[in-house]
Amino acid sequence: MPATPPAKPATSPAQKALLKLGLRRDIDLALHLPLRYEDETRIVRLADVREGDTVQVEATVTACEVTFRPRRQLLVTVDDGSDTCLLRFFSFYPSQQKALAVGARIRARGEVRGGFAGLTMMHPSFRAAGGELPTALTPVYPTVAGLPQAYLRKAVLGGLAHADLSDTLPASGLPGSRENLSKIGLQPLWSLRESLSFLHHPAPDVALATLEDHSHPAWQRLKAEELLAQQLSQLQAKRARAGLRAPTLQPRRGGLHEQLLAVLPFTLTRAQHRVSEEIARDLALPAPMHRLLQGDVGSGKTVVAALAAAICIDAGWQCALMTPTEILAGQHFTKLLGWLEPLLAPLGLRTAWLTGSQKTKERREMLALIESGEAALVIGTHAVIQDKVVFKRLALAIIDEQHRFGVAQRLALRSKANSAPGALHVPAPTPALPRAGEGAPQREPHLLMMTATPIPRTLAMSYYADLEVSTLDELPPGRTPVVTKLVHEARRDEVVERIRAQLAQGRQVYWVCPLIEESEALDLVNATQTHAALSEALPGVLVGLLHSRMPAAEKRAVMALFTGDPGDAGAAGRMGVLVSTTVIEVGVDVPNASLMVIEHAERFGLSQLHQLRGRVGRGAAASACVLLYSTGEAPRLGETARARLKAMVETGDGFEIARRDLEIRGPGEFLGARQSGAPLLRFADLALDADLLDWARNLAPRMLDQHPELAEKHVQRWLGGRAEYLKA
Ligand code: ADP
Ligand code: MG
Repeated sequence: MPATPPAKPATSPAQKALLKLGLRRDIDLALHLPLRYEDETRIVRLADVREGDTVQVEATVTACEVTFRPRRQLLVTVDDGSDTCLLRFFSFYPSQQKALAVGARIRARGEVRGGFAGLTMMHPSFRAAGGELPTALTPVYPTVAGLPQAYLRKAVLGGLAHADLSDTLPASGLPGSRENLSKIGLQPLWSLRESLSFLHHPAPDVALATLEDHSHPAWQRLKAEELLAQQLSQLQAKRARAGLRAPTLQPRRGGLHEQLLAVLPFTLTRAQHRVSEEIARDLALPAPMHRLLQGDVGSGKTVVAALAAAICIDAGWQCALMTPTEILAGQHFTKLLGWLEPLLAPLGLRTAWLTGSQKTKERREMLALIESGEAALVIGTHAVIQDKVVFKRLALAIIDEQHRFGVAQRLALRSKANSAPGALHVPAPTPALPRAGEGAPQREPHLLMMTATPIPRTLAMSYYADLEVSTLDELPPGRTPVVTKLVHEARRDEVVERIRAQLAQGRQVYWVCPLIEESEALDLVNATQTHAALSEALPGVLVGLLHSRMPAAEKRAVMALFTGDPGDAGAAGRMGVLVSTTVIEVGVDVPNASLMVIEHAERFGLSQLHQLRGRVGRGAAASACVLLYSTGEAPRLGETARARLKAMVETGDGFEIARRDLEIRGPGEFLGARQSGAPLLRFADLALDADLLDWARNLAPRMLDQHPELAEKHVQRWLGGRAEYLKA
């Protein structure tokens, strides 16, 4: 794949800001499309203005003064012969003040307000009058601080003029070729060039609504192009990977895999069987697996991961398991250890664990174990992907709660397989590689990603062309569904009563404190206060506190008190209630916990609420989740908060939750920041543009086969330097 040309050295702050927006090449600029438009093609008489209109007027300055009360401001009166208007600026430069001197003739544009001082504009944009009026709407681009619209407009114009905008869609002969576009509402007449010049300078008579909701044919063309680029790049990655080699891992009769199955305290569910087989099939192939295992909270993903690890270790390779939090790493470690260590020890194999908070000495030992290959199983947090970690022969990388990791981190873990190239030999014969001509073939580990925040199935299948998906659609038997209740904050006391009742039955309780976005410190105050209040209300009960700022050792100690064996009758020291900030969000497993209270539930995202709720209902006890909500000053909850809480009460099914979440948030955000660490689609909307996605999915493989150069050009044009990222 050709490298992206190196960026020109940025000198001015505005140029740097351009780079920050990812606008490096001419084509990047040309594809930087307006958010909205301003109509500067017309001048309106002040006498004809209605309150609330956003208009452009041309008038003469009749007064200009700086006042200091109630605060420093520049007040400018203008008169266009039909009426006067007051322009008010709270921040202004001396140069602007000068341009607005009495007698100056200006064009000002802004929203007009009424009031007893007459017409007013707050912070209008303005310039000296004169010159012709523009004939097209003025685009307003997405920008960042330090990058003025005027500068950006000029840069975009330049990009548009210089970029190669030749058509990359095959002209004919394919189902998605230009001649057939009209079938899906794309008018074949709109070329990329036409679409872009139109969107950057639409004629003033265009229906603005079709531009704003992206239904205009020019937008359709761009969305189709974007989706095609995404499909092509995923297919390219998939095909490239098929040519890469990974160790072939076959389960042996009587091997670790079977031994593990024999020692498990339960039998696998049918779903666990099925996905384990899907994974085992992939592992036995010489091409690296790239599989997403999705299953609701509590569906038993850990054991599926353990079985895959067993196959890998049994074949003589190393397996790494990466989790987003230290607590979770600890839990996995204990659980997998309990299962696997007795099986590994007789083979002379060890397990290692790596976290950020580990003591240097311990860490050094672990690194040595990993590098020598003695550690067959490595569990840890982000620490696993640090440079110092060298695997002797990594064959399987498992990422738990994958949506919590960024793309870069996933790539880093995959590249670990090649961290000690001298140390390996791959027994399989070398298949022809697409990147032929290079020396030793790249070896990749198999990659298993796990998530409890499922991507709605249809979306996963169609969007991630590059990913195999396995789904655990069944919970282990004996679970009673969690009953979810909405309770207003004013009824807190009743909730404390409920807690007492659960404790009396020997159960345990989680109390999760709100997420306060602005400040971690505030989170803490809140959790501390709640902790104190509950301790007082529940004399004789051990109430623990867990938050993200605590040293790791302390966190572990608190968790140990909470997870302590419930069957132990003399467990007087066992913690009854755990008050925590959202650090427990993912994966913690305490089957004896039967009540989850979430304070200020209205502040949490839907999938987060569902994850939290998944902490209870893990044993046979009837469990409940209380969503304590507060409306604050407002008389009622906001619309999206209400929709989220309603969904929580109405369904316990993770897929349904994901679907509702998608509805509430929109897929852009869903797949963007959350799922991948970087927004992938800028223009297309997967919910609204399903037909375009179908079209792109159909065309992509044929285009790769029959017009590889066009396909490559298309991907480069749209994704440029980002293509590497989309493969992760
Ligand atoms: P998650 O999918 O959320 O990671 P876990 O792997 O933590 O779920 O499993 C949840 C609980 O269910 C654990 O206590 C686990 O030991 C238990 N479990 C897993 N599979 C089964 C099964 N087939 N039968 C009974 N219990 C199971
Ligand atoms: Mg889990």
